Amino acid sequence: MNDFSVEAKGLTKYFGAFRAVDQVSLEVPTGSIYGVLGPNGAGKTTSLRMMLGIVDPDAGESRLLGGHSPQTVRHRVGYLPEERGLYPGMKAREAIAFMGALRGLDWAEGRHRAASFMSELGLERVIDEKIRKMSKGMAQMVQLIGSIVHAPDLIVLDEPFSGLDPVNQERLEMLVRRERDRGATILFSTHVMAHAERLCDRIAIIARSARRFEGTVDAARALLPMQVRYTPRT
Ligand code: ATP
Repeated sequence: MNDFSVEAKGLTKYFGAFRAVDQVSLEVPTGSIYGVLGPNGAGKTTSLRMMLGIVDPDAGESRLLGGHSPQTVRHRVGYLPEERGLYPGMKAREAIAFMGALRGLDWAEGRHRAASFMSELGLERVIDEKIRKMSKGMAQMVQLIGSIVHAPDLIVLDEPFSGLDPVNQERLEMLVRRERDRGATILFSTHVMAHAERLCDRIAIIARSARRFEGTVDAARALLPMQVRYTPRT
């Protein structure tokens, strides 16, 4: 056992001749909020997928939750992928319970937890609404709740802020802090430094396929020029 929820060493991935990820290593301390920051196409999604055992690396390895292989701790991990997707005919409550059931959560307990999450976030009015009737941002909130409803020890969110309006971005921040306070470890990717600054204990910066920085938010702030820090994706 050790005190890291993610330990990635030398992760490397080629797509054809293109090296999308080049020897990325990362250690996420248990109980922390950790940000992977970088521009579009830098290799964040592929890195996260290798860490979770969804994509096989060409080199390197990943261990989760104190040294386990990703496959053996699947039920203790929650993951919001970059491609969002829920069954459009499901109501929010069912969609959340369904996602929980895929990770081993009892159906009735999933429905119960769905209601508590939704009311805590002030979303009770959409709990019986079908996904197809919702805005994209609202559906994303439902998927986010579904990905953490089984109370995972490790939560990995790929660009969770993208596509959310400011109110839902605040709800997301609240949820992340609440999950950390419950004892979970959170790893998320973003291309906006401000999001990482507000939430993270530590960050890694990935650019052009490789890790360019790792450290505290304060150390990153001192290093990066303002225009890099606050230029949002257009
Ligand atoms: P984004 O936020 O745009 O997804 P990212 O930092 O998450 O960016 P990745 O999605 O990991 O980056 O992609 C890294 C690079 O690898 C990009 O140039 C992308 O086009 C390429 N890539 C990703 N997946 C594949 C694939 N399956 N086949 C070929 N190239 C890929």
